[in-house]
Amino acid sequence: MNCERLAVSNRISNLIPYQPGKPIADVKRELGIVGEIIKLASNENPLGPSPLGIAALQAALPTLALYPDGACHALREAVTEKFGLSPDSLIFGNGSDEIIHLLGLTFLEPGDEIVVGDPTFVLYETAATLAGAKTVKVALTAGDMRHDTAAMAAACTEKTRLVFVANPHNPTGSVISKADVEILLAALPPRAFLVLDEAYAEYVEDDPEVPRALDWIKENAPVICLRTFSKLYGLAGFRVGYGVAAPEVIRLINQARSPFNVNLAGQVAAAAALNDTEFIARTKKNNDDGIAQLIAGFEILGLSWLPTRANFIVVNTGRPAKAMFDALLKRGIIVRAFPNDLPTHLRVTIGTPEQNTRFLEALTLCLT
Ligand SMILES: *Cc1c(COP(=O)(O)O)cnc(C)c1O
Repeated sequence: MNCERLAVSNRISNLIPYQPGKPIADVKRELGIVGEIIKLASNENPLGPSPLGIAALQAALPTLALYPDGACHALREAVTEKFGLSPDSLIFGNGSDEIIHLLGLTFLEPGDEIVVGDPTFVLYETAATLAGAKTVKVALTAGDMRHDTAAMAAACTEKTRLVFVANPHNPTGSVISKADVEILLAALPPRAFLVLDEAYAEYVEDDPEVPRALDWIKENAPVICLRTFSKLYGLAGFRVGYGVAAPEVIRLINQARSPFNVNLAGQVAAAAALNDTEFIARTKKNNDDGIAQLIAGFEILGLSWLPTRANFIVVNTGRPAKAMFDALLKRGIIVRAFPNDLPTHLRVTIGTPEQNTRFLEALTLCLT
C-alpha cells in the first residue's frame, strides 16, 4: 500500500508492542512438545479460576444473548460492600490494563510526563506514548531493585501528571512503605496523581505494614488505585479490573470508557469470586508455600533471588536470560525473561507444588 495511507502519528508508529507471556498452544506448535507444558509466565492463579465464580457463570450462561450491564451494578455493589466505598468512586475495565489506557486518554496530553520505575510494568509507558506524553524512567535501587521513591520524587516537575507505582511491584515483587507513599504525594505538583497499581495487593492484604491505596483515597489524597480479578481470583481470561478514586476523578475517566467495556460473563464471575473466601485462603497458602519451596530450591542451586510479596519471584540464574528462557522452554516450562532490563534473571510465577518441582528440576538441568 502507498506510504501516505500508512503514515500515522508517532504515537502509534513509535509504540513498542506489548510482549505477553508465551501461550501454551504456541509452544506446542513451535517446539512440537508433546508432554504437559507449564506456564509460569503471566502470574495467573495455578489453582484455576474461583469455583464460586465459575458456578455463577454457569448459572448466567442463558443470559449471554443480552448486552452486559454497562454500569456493572451487581459487581459494583459487591466491591463497594467489601471495601466500604461509595459506588461512584469505582470504574470497571476490561482488565485493569484498560483503566491504565483510560488514564492516559483522560489525563495525558503532549508535553505531559509520567514518572515510573525502571524497569516496571510496560503498559504505563504505552498509555503515555499513545497520548503523546513522555515517560520519565527512574532506575530501581541497585541490588534489591525497589522503587527509589526519593529519586522518583526528585523526577517530578510541573509537567508530571501521573506517577505510577505497582505495589507489590511487577516484575520485581517488592513493596513500597507508607512513608514512600507520603514521599511521592509530597512531591506531586498540583495537577498530578499517584497511581497505585494494586494488581497483587490481595497477596499482602493481611500485612498492616503494606500501604493500601484505599486508605489514602478515603482521606481525599490525589491517589488512584487499580485492582484486578486476573491474579488472585484466577479470572485473567475474563478481563475484569477496576479503578478506585474520588468520584470527581472517576467521572472524568468514565468519559473515555466505551459503554459495554466489561463483558457479562466476567461481571458475573468477578462478583461471585470476590467473596470466595475458601478459594482466596487456599490460593494464598499455595502461594506462601510455593515461595518457600522455590527459595529452598534456589538455595540448593546457589542462586540468588529478589524477596517477593507477590505471586511470582525473580531469580538470578547467573546466565543470559534469553538462553535460560529458551532452555526451559525446550523442557516445556514457560517463564518470563526481560533480557534488556534483567540480563541474567527470570521471573517465575508461583505454581502448584508439582509445577514448582518440575520447574526446579528443569532449572537444575539447564544449569548443569
Ligand atoms: C497483571 C497486571 C495488571 C493487569 O491486569 P489485568 O486486569 O489482567 O489487565 C496490571 N498491573 C500489573 C502490575 C500487573 O502485573
